[in-house]
Amino acid sequence: MNKIHQEYNKYFLNTYGPFDFVPVSGAGSRLYDEDCKEVIDFAGGIAVNGLGHSHPKLIKALTNQASCLWHVSNIMINKPALELARKLVSNTCFDKVFFTNSGTEAVEAGLKLARRYAAVTYGKHKNKIVSFLNGFHGRTLFAVSVGGQSQYQEGFAPLPGGICHGVFNDITKLDELIDDNTAIVIVEPIQGEGGIISATPEFLIKLRELCDKFSCILMFDEVQTGMGRTGKLFAYMNYGVEPDILSSAKALGSGFPIGALLVKNKFSTGFEIGSHGSTFGGNPLATSVANAAFDMINTPEILDGVIKRRQIFIKKLTKLNQEVNVYKEIRGEGLLLGLELHDKYNGLARELIKIGLKHGVLILNASPNVTRLAPSLIIPIEDIDEGIDRFTNTLLEFVRVHG
Ligand SMILES: *Cc1c(COP(=O)(O)O)cnc(C)c1O
Repeated sequence: MNKIHQEYNKYFLNTYGPFDFVPVSGAGSRLYDEDCKEVIDFAGGIAVNGLGHSHPKLIKALTNQASCLWHVSNIMINKPALELARKLVSNTCFDKVFFTNSGTEAVEAGLKLARRYAAVTYGKHKNKIVSFLNGFHGRTLFAVSVGGQSQYQEGFAPLPGGICHGVFNDITKLDELIDDNTAIVIVEPIQGEGGIISATPEFLIKLRELCDKFSCILMFDEVQTGMGRTGKLFAYMNYGVEPDILSSAKALGSGFPIGALLVKNKFSTGFEIGSHGSTFGGNPLATSVANAAFDMINTPEILDGVIKRRQIFIKKLTKLNQEVNVYKEIRGEGLLLGLELHDKYNGLARELIKIGLKHGVLILNASPNVTRLAPSLIIPIEDIDEGIDRFTNTLLEFVRVHG
């Protein structure tokens, strides 16, 4: 083990197992370490760096704000936050926002708002939360309890109660799951961490129907799928199903930490003065960067560019897989792609990342059996070409070692 990893292990709680490559700078879709070794980034900081690394407009937004005003807390209005709220509202079906520092906090805010709205409007019996197996909503105790992956709950009992999990994309059991006591149904339009699995339109339409029928809130967790990732500003826009509330984060700040809960007017009374809060949420630095990111991402050039880049990826990956036959399926929307390993390679998606780094390309996994690609929405075409060449070498070595 090299020195920096030894030091890391000495000082960090053992929650991550970082890879060997230690980037010290980034530009566009390329990362560099201290020795100027360069890696093409198909991971995008886990679907965060929507505009790549060191985008000049984001640097300008951050540094301008840095010389102006860093933090005032929410006891006062800050203008960059107001501007971002206006943009989010005028470009979506929502009316109000609450800013957070992360995706988990945006989810948590939505769950709390829904429970309080139901309690105040209908009574305390209406508190049930419905979510789906294999779903992911973040890492606070509440978020892992609502999430549908038991490995993230192990050892943390007792978990918050009143949560029921259904089977994602199974319409037949929904009638048993959602009832008069349900306060909120939360779902990812595409399960991200769970392996890049898209909700079917029928599933989301049925959820919408049942939430209307039983007067409960439908929440989309678009922390990963939002801000242009699927070629629309938010993934719900692909489905024609409007949720009542929505969580956003990841690419919202395109690298600067920020999250947001978006809420329709009808449910905005779930929070009143004092019901919820955050010291940093909507911080001027975060919202200034997010404003600049929003102005770029919410344009036909970038959103159409996502679809164009997607087509290049799909074409090249399909051809490559015909040659190496590593994956049984290539799926996902926009630039959120999932490649599911053949059964004989079960559990090796993380191993593949290590081999990729040796060959100069950074990929991700989503579950142990799926390779995930979530590159910058503006990744240059030549970086796609070169990255796929490196990914080809990666898969060839993978097959040599594990085939
Ligand atoms: C990443 C993610 C979260 C958690 O966001 P953090 O910023 O890590 O707290 C929540 N929901 C979904 C769908 C995510 O992909």
